[in-house]
Amino acid sequence: MSGRGYRTFRGGVHPPTHKELSSSKAVTQAPVPAEVVIPLNQHIGAPNVPLVSPGDRVDVGQKIGETEAFVSAPVHSSVAGTVRAVEDVRNFTGAIVRAVVITADAEQPAFAAARMKPVGELTADEIRRLAREGGLVGMGGAAFPTHVKLTPPRDKPVDTVLLNACECEPFLTCDHRLMLERPAHIVEGLKLLVRAVGAERGIIGIEANKMDAVDGLRAAVSSEPGLDVAVLDVKYPEGSEKQLISVVTGRKVPPGMLPGEVGCLVQNVGTSVALYEMASIGKPLYERVVTVTGPGLRSPGNFLAKIGTRISMLIEAAGGWAGEPARLIMGGPMTGWAQEEPVASVVKGTSGVLVLTPELVDARDEHACVRCGKCVEACPMFLMPNYIAEAAIREDWAKAEMYGALDCFECGCCSYTCPAYIPHVSYARKAKAQLAALKKR
Ligand code: SF4
Ligand code: SF4
Repeated sequence: MSGRGYRTFRGGVHPPTHKELSSSKAVTQAPVPAEVVIPLNQHIGAPNVPLVSPGDRVDVGQKIGETEAFVSAPVHSSVAGTVRAVEDVRNFTGAIVRAVVITADAEQPAFAAARMKPVGELTADEIRRLAREGGLVGMGGAAFPTHVKLTPPRDKPVDTVLLNACECEPFLTCDHRLMLERPAHIVEGLKLLVRAVGAERGIIGIEANKMDAVDGLRAAVSSEPGLDVAVLDVKYPEGSEKQLISVVTGRKVPPGMLPGEVGCLVQNVGTSVALYEMASIGKPLYERVVTVTGPGLRSPGNFLAKIGTRISMLIEAAGGWAGEPARLIMGGPMTGWAQEEPVASVVKGTSGVLVLTPELVDARDEHACVRCGKCVEACPMFLMPNYIAEAAIREDWAKAEMYGALDCFECGCCSYTCPAYIPHVSYARKAKAQLAALKKR
């Protein structure tokens, strides 16, 4: 329990939230780009192969990339248009990825809703198939294929589905707007998730700084047996899987294990809405709500953006630059990826585009660790970020693993608290990438 009586977890930090910049802005449709760049792989798992070639006509929602591998998610066209190229592009992480580039028609038809079986009659297998067909992934950023999570091993039954409605990352408000504008759809999606895994209950975990959304969600679950809303303390990273499970259920996921180990499944509210849309009208995941915000923009807001929209276009939709931008980030300030130029495109896991001004950017140089222990205190995974960073600097990957680099989920609490400005997350990402490469050999 926290001092205010809400449940919380050990570690974590309280960065300024800055959510007031966009939290009152209703979701509006972003302009349809003249061209979309849709990476074939937007998920964790096996790579997709393109199903289209240059010159092909595509419709909105048409599948354009897929693979038969189980851990994967197909991708769909977000526009009606003509494939201009299938080529390598640089994505938001800086990696070179294969993408389908589509020139959009001047006139865009609305998505044609399919005739579907009544949502209440869908079986668990049908729900999993719909999630797979619709290319659903975790939309909180991790982008793990949803149908895989909905297929727990027989010996690890799931009794509790948790819906992450915390949106604890500063600046981001896309989930908050969904909670205010579409609580009934969030709950319909939660019912499908619960049915798909045969769980006994579904709980929506929401931070206490979104009380305006709590009433709508409580009203939507009031007549649903087994569903509930849990109001939690405001602390970063309350919405991460292991912390949410611990706070809401009291269960601890052991290091290196997944939520299924303790009978839980965690999904994000955006994924819940997307699953409901797939089940009710057959709409695949080809657009999502993105918060475009920061003091470096004239008119921050929340936009329903086509997957493949270049972020330069969203910056224009948010009124354009306000002064000289000091830092452009895809995602939030804690877990997002800094961008040199606004050229990357929106993918399924893109929750925000953030433009910071100089006063919010700490450009001081990294210096030697002063052994203050603040990073250790802040780490919600009980790791020793100082030792992981030291090991990464020395390229001693075995030691980085020993100190738990693989359990780091890149929340950034250590970097946030470090008086030596050590970019812990960069070191942890490097260590994880190296360890993954070593394991592949
Ligand atoms: S080591 Fe990883 S999990 Fe721990 S605080 Fe740092 S970024 Fe978060
Ligand atoms: S917070 Fe920074 S300075 Fe303090 S122990 Fe951790 S790495 Fe060292």
